[in-house]
Amino acid sequence: MRVLLVQPGLGKGFGLRQLSLVEPLGLETVGGALVGKHEVLLLDMRLEDDLSATLKQFNPDLCGISCSFTLDVSRALEIAIRIKAASEGRQPFVVVGGHHASLSPGDFNHPAVDAIVVGEGEATMAELARRLEEGGELRAVPGLVLNQEGGHVSTGTRPLTENLDDLPLPARHLAERYAGSYYAFGEKPMAMVETARGCENRCHFCSVWHFYRGRRRVKSPQRVVEEVLAVKAPYILFTDDNFLGDVERARQIAELLLERGVHFRCAIQARSDSIVEHTDVLKLWRQVGLVGVFVGVEKIDDAGLSQVRKGNSAANNERALEILHREGIGVTASFIVDPSWEHRDFAALRRYVAEKRIQTPSFTVLTPLPGTVLHRELGSQVNTHDCELFDLLHAVLPTRLSLAEFYRELAATYRSAYPWHRVLMEGLRSLPSRTDGAKPDLLHLWRLTQIYRTLTRAESFLAGHRETAAQIKASSRSS
Ligand code: SF4
Repeated sequence: MRVLLVQPGLGKGFGLRQLSLVEPLGLETVGGALVGKHEVLLLDMRLEDDLSATLKQFNPDLCGISCSFTLDVSRALEIAIRIKAASEGRQPFVVVGGHHASLSPGDFNHPAVDAIVVGEGEATMAELARRLEEGGELRAVPGLVLNQEGGHVSTGTRPLTENLDDLPLPARHLAERYAGSYYAFGEKPMAMVETARGCENRCHFCSVWHFYRGRRRVKSPQRVVEEVLAVKAPYILFTDDNFLGDVERARQIAELLLERGVHFRCAIQARSDSIVEHTDVLKLWRQVGLVGVFVGVEKIDDAGLSQVRKGNSAANNERALEILHREGIGVTASFIVDPSWEHRDFAALRRYVAEKRIQTPSFTVLTPLPGTVLHRELGSQVNTHDCELFDLLHAVLPTRLSLAEFYRELAATYRSAYPWHRVLMEGLRSLPSRTDGAKPDLLHLWRLTQIYRTLTRAESFLAGHRETAAQIKASSRSS
């Protein structure tokens, strides 16, 4: 059977989305479960747009489209429609999978989509491909929502893979032709490695713990080392939501790598409480090559943290920032801006970022993503159907300030955190220090200037809403 795996294109690629373009690790891992038994092709439409030619040449029997983010919904659907329309006679079976598709399968109740893969995709896709090839009842394949004439039919829940070491290695060769094009935060080329899945915390705005059913499972240190050694890129971004969640394991991985003399530049995501408690492990990873840590600071005080149920404290956040500064590790701190904010709240956030000397903060707008507690509480107040606005930079809930004032404050917060001269210096500095030492990446400098222009002007945020309003007006005229 020929299986085509598709990563949708970027669409508007507003703001921070331009900062990184990472390998489609989810599709590579699903691909790992299929290669050897089937002919598999991966098309990354962020880098290669020619779906029609691919369909013609490869003539797939099964197409799997990734939809991990809410803002990919319309593009994933459009791809499904194009696949069905391009096929004459025998049509490929089209499935959509990923975090968003799993948590909101109803978004794909469309004749162009035959099924939605709900939850982890490796075993489900392998079994689906086998059933389609050999014939048999698809209702017997757990983990699917089938689009049938009477509507959506669930085939039941597929249990999570108990031992992550049983998962196939990601089939990185499927994306090898794009490997030199992936970048994140000025590091290029780069690769991603997943060492764990899920989170034991229960933040209200987060869908990760819902997707993984409240559990956290980990790969063994030996398996992680095996995956790291299979990576060719000189920079690795570990995808785990809290890399230090199992600190003994994090320590063992570092020790195994150091014993083998393996060093590489890398970045992790970690909670501030783990950083404070386990600074020694951070130092060990510094020896491996840790250069950056992403910390979800979210809020500047305990009241704000408890509002989003972060289960952490402002004191931990401040201590973690100090530790990272002291250890010379780059820190990217993310903050949540609330649509209910007034001028003084933005001003307090700007003061905090300046006082704590946070060089690379990101400010995202509180968004009730499907599958979150926040969505259950506030989903009815969402005031747009445009999935492109769910990029965490637009307000999809009513704002207390006027929308224009809200974005003026958000843009001012970005301007205050990123003075233009510093952005320019950063861009210029990164030119000769590319990870692979190859030719300077002028594109990175261009991207930084584009991102700066977008995020520091209220007008660019507002334009997204105007496009939506124009679309609604146009569709109401045509209906
Ligand atoms: S935001 Fe981070 S810490 Fe909170 S539940 Fe999600 S993954 Fe866990």
